[in-house]
Formats: sequence, C-alpha cells, structure tokens
Amino acid sequence: MHEKRRAVVAELIREEAATVRLLFSPELVRMQPIETGMAPPILDACRAEGLGAKTLGYPVHIARRARSDAGIPILLEIDFLPVGNSNGDAICVRYGDETAGYTVHVIDGAFKETSKDIIAHISNHYHGPSTIIGHMVVSHACNDHVPGLVDVLRTMDVRNLWMNRPWIYADEVLRVYPRFTSPGLYKRMRDKHEYLVELESIAIVRRIPIHDALQGARIGNFLVLAPSRDRYVSLIPHLDKTPEPSIQPYRSPFAALPVRFSNAVRETWTHETLAENLETSESNETSVVQLGIFDNHRALLTADVGPIGLAEAATYAASLGLLTPPNVVQVPHHGSRHNVTPLVLDLWLGQKLPYENSPRRGTAFCSVGADADIYPRKKVTNAFLRRGYPIYATRGETKTHFIGRELRNGWGSITPEAFSTNVEDDD
Ligand SMILES: [Zn+2]
Repeated sequence: MHEKRRAVVAELIREEAATVRLLFSPELVRMQPIETGMAPPILDACRAEGLGAKTLGYPVHIARRARSDAGIPILLEIDFLPVGNSNGDAICVRYGDETAGYTVHVIDGAFKETSKDIIAHISNHYHGPSTIIGHMVVSHACNDHVPGLVDVLRTMDVRNLWMNRPWIYADEVLRVYPRFTSPGLYKRMRDKHEYLVELESIAIVRRIPIHDALQGARIGNFLVLAPSRDRYVSLIPHLDKTPEPSIQPYRSPFAALPVRFSNAVRETWTHETLAENLETSESNETSVVQLGIFDNHRALLTADVGPIGLAEAATYAASLGLLTPPNVVQVPHHGSRHNVTPLVLDLWLGQKLPYENSPRRGTAFCSVGADADIYPRKKVTNAFLRRGYPIYATRGETKTHFIGRELRNGWGSITPEAFSTNVEDDD
C-alpha cells in the first residue's frame, strides 16, 4: 500500500512546475502525517475530500482548506551535535506543530561513542526517552557518519530507516568486475559495509522499513535532491568500501580535470581564491542532499557531498522551482575546500554580496571535531560569508538553528567564524 502511494506521489511530483509548487506549498507541508511520514498526506486528504489522486486541481482546494486552520507557528529545530575530537556528523531535527504533531528526523550519528549523546539529546530536548524518531537517514557509508546510529536504532523507537546500500546494485556494476560472480560481489560489498549491514539487520529484526534515499524521495518535509539513482550506481565501483574494479568504468569528465593550485594565500572581500576544480572522493559524492521545506523556511543538509552532487541537487531543485537560497545550510564535509566551488555556491547561496557588512541571507552550520582546528577552511568560511552566510561550527558543542520557540534554558548566543585575509594554500 505504501509503495503504491509513494509511486503515485512520485508521479505527481513529476507533473509540471505549477503543480509541484502547490504540492510543496506551506499549507500542504503542514498537513504531513507526523508519526510515519510515509503516507503522503495529500492523498489521504484527497480521499477525505472525495477527490481523485490525480486531479490536478486538488492541491488548490486542499491548500485553501488548510489555510483556515493555519495560525499556529511551525516549530523547527535543527541541532548539530558535537562528535568528539575529530570530524563527523550527528544531526537531530524536530519540526511540526501542536495540531499536526511533531516529527523527529535524525541524520547520521558520527562515531560509536556519539550514540549516547544522540539518545540523551532527543530524550532531554524533544519528547523524553519514548520519543518516536520518524525518520533516520544515513547520508553515506563513511565511518564518521554511520556507527553512532547503530545503538540509536537498536534502542529507540525508529519508524523509518533511509539508507543507500551499494550491494543492492551489484548486478548493475558486475560488468566491471569480471572476476566476480554476482553472489560473490554482493557478499564482498556487504562484508566491507559492516555498519550498514548492522543497521539493516537491526531494522529487519525490529520490522523497521528500509528505504532508498535517492533523488525524488520524500522524507517527511524533506526532499532528497541527490544522489540520483544513475549517479549513485555509477559511483559504486569507485567507493572506498567496494572492491577495486578490474575494468575501469567510465569516470566523470570532471575527475580528469587538472587540479590548478592557487598560490594566492591572501584574500579580500572581493578577491576569492577558492578553487573551481578541486574534487572530493566518490564516497563523499554519494552523500544524500536533503532540502527541508517548512512553510517559507528552507534547510539544505549536505553531509559530505562535493561539487558534483551539489550541482546535481541544484539542477533538480531548479527543475521543481525550488532553487532559492536556503535559510539554513550545512557546510559540506566539515568545511573542506574540496567540496564547494564558487560556481556551486553561487547556484545555491546566490551571488557574492557587494560589501562585507551586507545583510545576511541565511545561516550556515558546520560539524567540526573539537580538535579539528583547521576546519572549516578559511577560504570556505570567506566564500560563505561573501554570499551572506556566516558559519557556526560545532567544535565540541551542540549548535542549534530554530524557529517557533524560545531559546532553550541555559543556552546562549554564538559567534560565527570570522572573515580571514590570510587563507590556506591549496597544496
Ligand atoms: Zn564526514
């Protein structure tokens, strides 16, 4: 049943832009069913109204009806948790309102030790130890993102697990592995992804549905913008945790570009030295990029994605009329200068602002380990600042972005990273 509903909604999302905008209108977002997020609310609402799911006119009707009970401000909190001494990601999100209920959405869990902090954070700040986690999302398979989720999945009430498992696509990449049989490649890929396999087995035992987190998937109020299925599969033979292919598969032409190191180590507001053609690993480029839409407020979560995934996400968002500077953005890959380029930052954040004290466009957060002093890289911080996004780095503390509530008791204001005139050389 769920599968059928999801398929219909996928179809609807592919309809022309006008309809898509309505699907994501604030009023409809409000009607999201909170406990599971699985059953698209629109269809239920349509049925209640006696409307066919494919009637193009229905979003207007539903939106009009929803508007009348609007008025309760939506709550959104995005908490970037500290992750120990080195870099990693652990992000807890809660959103909703008293009428519709609240959804908790957890993205990544950093290292094993971080699981207890995630559980404590959710228990203390959301709805106690019995809080329902509507969605748990694994951004990608790297060890600074996944292991901390294992105990959370094992001990808390999680309703949906979203993760991409490369072994599912073993048959599709088998041609570049002539020495492997299909079952052999499947097994080898699983053997190398011990944490994903552990999450999978816990989910199976606890009867938690596992979903692919690929472009077009709707996860509550979040829409997955990248990776597309095709790009994800094309990256599988290049991943850190898949066997080396015997036949070199096609690589993106971007990967062949020579890296041009910049000798400039001084920057000004108008002089940017962030490279246009550095690249990150293919494993990072499989990261799930999610756009959260909360009334008129938007959050872009990027994990460790690089320029190719960000460009793919921007293209997809543009095709849906959703490419606008977000209110809050996660700086990819802990602030590495290999993951953002001036071009993708212009796409996502807007053009550079004319002067240093221009009004900000939004806020950026960066998950950085307590001892990872060199992150975020200064030229990345400068590039975000030039486009109106001061960066707040976690560095041993939880940093939170919120709307619709007061500052938590005992929590104070925070200072963003400063603009630097001396920046790192690229080599
Ligand atoms: Zn990472």
